[in-house]
Amino acid sequence: MAEVLVYVDHVDGAVRKPTLELLALARRIGEPVAVHLGAGADTAAAVLAEHGAVKVLAADAPEFTEYLVAPKVDALQAAYDAVSPAAVLLPSSVEGKEIAARLAVRIGSGIITDAVDLEAGDEGPVATQSVFAASFTTKSRITKGTPVITVKPNSAAPEAAPAAGTVEQLAVTVADSSKGTKIVSRTPRESTGRPELTEAAIVVSGGRGVNGAENFPVIEALADSLGAAVGASRAAVDAGWYPHTNQVGQTGKSVSPQLYIAAGISGAIQHRAGMQTSKTIVAINKDAEAPIFDLVDYGVVGDLFDVVPALTDEVNARKG
Ligand code: FAD
Repeated sequence: MAEVLVYVDHVDGAVRKPTLELLALARRIGEPVAVHLGAGADTAAAVLAEHGAVKVLAADAPEFTEYLVAPKVDALQAAYDAVSPAAVLLPSSVEGKEIAARLAVRIGSGIITDAVDLEAGDEGPVATQSVFAASFTTKSRITKGTPVITVKPNSAAPEAAPAAGTVEQLAVTVADSSKGTKIVSRTPRESTGRPELTEAAIVVSGGRGVNGAENFPVIEALADSLGAAVGASRAAVDAGWYPHTNQVGQTGKSVSPQLYIAAGISGAIQHRAGMQTSKTIVAINKDAEAPIFDLVDYGVVGDLFDVVPALTDEVNARKG
């Protein structure tokens, strides 16, 4: 069976959920071979094996942390040369997309970014994308070279699929040309304790209807009751009520959670572009004519300051 390279997104060997989702999708196409760069390969290998990785190609080098992505592209290319895979899958993170694009250029392959589903096809993997501000869903296949595909978080559920997950060291030579941009400092963002917006299974977003930074704790309380991330419309961000890192939409982040709750958001096309692929959409809006109600699975016409706290209380009560 053909092998499929899966780029591992991790923090010191703690594998992030989008990689486990990629392994589930890779299994539809062939045998997943994980590529782990940096520290913690042995820790990661156990989790990767539980989710279907037949092999883990591991490499660690100071260049992976000292420079921007180019040394990682060298490593992924080394893995590509070693395996001759049927496809290369990466998460649709900022880093994942940059690595994917650079690799595709180097190996002369086509690339698909931000896929929301992936299936095996007679002539190679077929990726589903949501395009033109989510106005269309397309299915595409790469016709040149080895398909390089990035997949949005929450596009598939991780699957338990025990496999060997044997760790093999990958020999990597980092080219001088890959050391062009050095990282000079890192400042970790203050942790909110909430999941990362693009990876969260549930997102609760607030818009102009929240009417002030001082009211966002109403949204945060519902998010915390559900273990969700907090999102915001651009109107709320532009007003300075919530950080830009939490903006959902065309000029913000693109999310695809299992559940998206929009409170006090009208549903402008630019907002929809960032959340329309969510599996279940709930809107709370006091205007029954708000466009957001055109795309929801469940709509509540009401004042968010009544509905959201009541929902939070109900969720907390059910958790006991
Ligand atoms: P509004 O459109 O003002 O809607 C507020 C809603 O809250 C209304 O429907 C109202 O009925 C409801 N409401 C008010 N009070 C309450 C209450 N108490 N209870 C319940 N409901 C209430 N927008 C984004 O979100 N993300 C983007 O990335 C983005 N990128 C853009 C890029 C470009 C190039 C442009 C031109 C625009 C972009 N926008 C983006 C802006 C977008 O067009 C809208 O202006 C924005 O999404 C509106 O935000 P909103 O829904 O919060 O505000």
